[in-house]
Amino acid sequence: MNKKLLLLSLLIIGANFLTAQTQKQKEKHQFIDSLINIMTIEEKIGQMSLFTSDWDKTGPTLREGYINDIKSGKAGAIFNAYTVAYTRKLQKIAVDETRLHIPLIFGYDVIHGHRTIFPIPLGESCSWDLKSIEQSARVAATEAAAEGLQWTFAPMVDIARDPRWGRIAEGAGEDTWLGSLIAAARVKGFQGNDLGAINTIAACAKHYAAYGAAQGGRDYNVVDMSLYSLHNTYLPPFKACVDAGVATFMTAFNEINGIPCSASNYLLNDILKNAWGFRGFVVTDYTSINEMVPHGYATDEKHAAQLALNAGVDMDMQGATFYNYLKDLNKEDKVKLLEIDKAVRRILSIKYDLGLFEDPYRYCDEKREAEVSFSKKNQDFANEVAKKSMVLLKNEANVLPLKKGLTIALVGPLAKDKRNLLGNWSAAGDWKKSISVWEGLQTASAGKNTIQYAKGCNLLDDQMLIQKLNGSGGDIETDARSQAEMLKEALEVAGKSDIIIAVMGESQGMSGEAASRSDINLPENQKIFLKALKASGKPIVLVLMNGRPLTLPWENENMNAIVETWFSGSMAGEAIAQILLGEYNPGAKLTISFPRSVGQIPIYYNMKNTGRPFDQNNKYTSKYLDVENTPLYPFGYGLSYTNYEYGKAILDKNKIHIGESVKINIDISNTGKMAGEEIVQLYIHHIQSGTTRPLKELKGFEKIFLEAGTKKNVGFELNSNDFASMTQDLKMICEPGKYEIMVGRNSEDLQKLNFEIIK
Ligand code: BGC
Repeated sequence: MNKKLLLLSLLIIGANFLTAQTQKQKEKHQFIDSLINIMTIEEKIGQMSLFTSDWDKTGPTLREGYINDIKSGKAGAIFNAYTVAYTRKLQKIAVDETRLHIPLIFGYDVIHGHRTIFPIPLGESCSWDLKSIEQSARVAATEAAAEGLQWTFAPMVDIARDPRWGRIAEGAGEDTWLGSLIAAARVKGFQGNDLGAINTIAACAKHYAAYGAAQGGRDYNVVDMSLYSLHNTYLPPFKACVDAGVATFMTAFNEINGIPCSASNYLLNDILKNAWGFRGFVVTDYTSINEMVPHGYATDEKHAAQLALNAGVDMDMQGATFYNYLKDLNKEDKVKLLEIDKAVRRILSIKYDLGLFEDPYRYCDEKREAEVSFSKKNQDFANEVAKKSMVLLKNEANVLPLKKGLTIALVGPLAKDKRNLLGNWSAAGDWKKSISVWEGLQTASAGKNTIQYAKGCNLLDDQMLIQKLNGSGGDIETDARSQAEMLKEALEVAGKSDIIIAVMGESQGMSGEAASRSDINLPENQKIFLKALKASGKPIVLVLMNGRPLTLPWENENMNAIVETWFSGSMAGEAIAQILLGEYNPGAKLTISFPRSVGQIPIYYNMKNTGRPFDQNNKYTSKYLDVENTPLYPFGYGLSYTNYEYGKAILDKNKIHIGESVKINIDISNTGKMAGEEIVQLYIHHIQSGTTRPLKELKGFEKIFLEAGTKKNVGFELNSNDFASMTQDLKMICEPGKYEIMVGRNSEDLQKLNFEIIK
């Protein structure tokens, strides 16, 4: 075919595709309009009401009786119900027993896997592997969609810089730019290219907005911040979700600057729906409309419902405020029918896109459910993701990987644990099927090393805390033996070993929702145990499991090696064993700074300079008297079993005009003995601008694989747009001026190059 003919046929195919798409959209709108025309106001409000089943709960149960609500058309959406059998049963009620037969949408917190559990999102973000992050969301969606679910309350895209906040575990760390890329990857993973496919589910960007900035790191607490910070730091990952086509948004529990998010016309109507053009629907977080009363913003729940609807909320999660009051509010003309119709249209439109009107049972297929749930393939992938997420924090004298022929003392409260490995928000994951470190090490070291076990101490000895955690679904199994007995046994085992592996950390319930901590050390009793082990003189490898950065200065000083494994999911123990034995070379890097002490919080890499930058010889500069300014482990930090040497970074020009690009190149060599992956990072600094800028801003990274003894050239290209920053009136523009471009292995170990942008 000649070129012209080829172009012509492509144009015809393209035009036909567009006509078919427009036709489809037309049909959809006609269908929804005709449905809305015949709906009563009660039926409309039903579509705007989401209730939990009695399978699970994540907040107070203000309403029981969801089955009756479905029957009477008063609930259009259900969460916390899954499996083909159960969702089919509920769907059948909606489809057969209601006047208009409108199918339900089923939602659930599929946060890091459904049956096959992946590392907690914070851990997974440390892989910096966008493809793999997208793929794990894809696997989660496939498993969830095979069990009757069409909607996940994920991704959580809250930027968080306060590790006291337990929900830091659910996000992608502290950086806005990287967080935005990860947010988009997760949306794409859940939704694929087509919401109507049977293995995709609608995603939900949450918690809109700035939930991660709760004062004091205390969950649900007040957020008070400048519009500049809101737009510059906290909103971009949400915008990235809109750009990636996210189907739904969830409002946050918190207030911002005096207005609860579920009543924020500015956030919901002005920014999300109007400025960003979001077409999906907005659901509140659990009873957050009702909570406007204790916030001191609404006089009563009825008033709260009015405020929420008029601010742009489309669906009420669990609060039953729309359910109870919307009809009267409309009668009293406090809420317009037009606004109710707009919300219903958005909700029905997503149900339509999911294919629910075509076949309400298309997500209910026992065969598919059996095939995909926790399949071997998914487990293998979960192992891969777990390994990619684990960060080697210290490795003195190459104590890791473990040599052959060693007698190993495996100790610590999490060494044999299975309950906690899945981490918080582990959906329908079955912890009994997860692999403990003990099991993983037994398998991986067969014929190589001898493993002896002793628990050594309980996870916690603080009875009050244990009670709180077990009361809220935490899982602390306490050994009945006394501390002294357990310690004695562990020291005996350690005495007969060449090396100690201590598996320590938090319980899964110590992070996540409503799990803030003011002290983020290892629990005191575990620390006492570690100190006793240290006194034995044997080398110690500390394997950490936790949902947030911990303060580890003593551990950093005294342990021989430290591996941060987070809560890494169903395959945790297998993955950890493979890392310890060197079958896998760790390459993950932190997406969150680890403070030296709680007093440094908030601490994050892209701080500004202040007018009195730190100078140790000058008292009157910005610093603490009792601790350094820097974190213990910075953003972007992580070690490997091999060494990477960075060559000299080179710019192809040191000046560009606005609209032009600059290329940055650098050689990276693997000078060690193992192949591995390195995450090469690129930062910029705008030295002087209309609004002051951070000293470093991540603007690029490359994750490269290098065989031992080989070298690769890594290239970056930055366009002048990549240097854009936010003006005082919240516009992104690239200002001419002097910049620094920095390349290196983490946010503190960087080469600096001067650079300029001219008009
Ligand atoms: C959490 C949300 C979650 C919802 C539904 C709330 O308590 O804040 O993140 O999606 O419960 O389970």
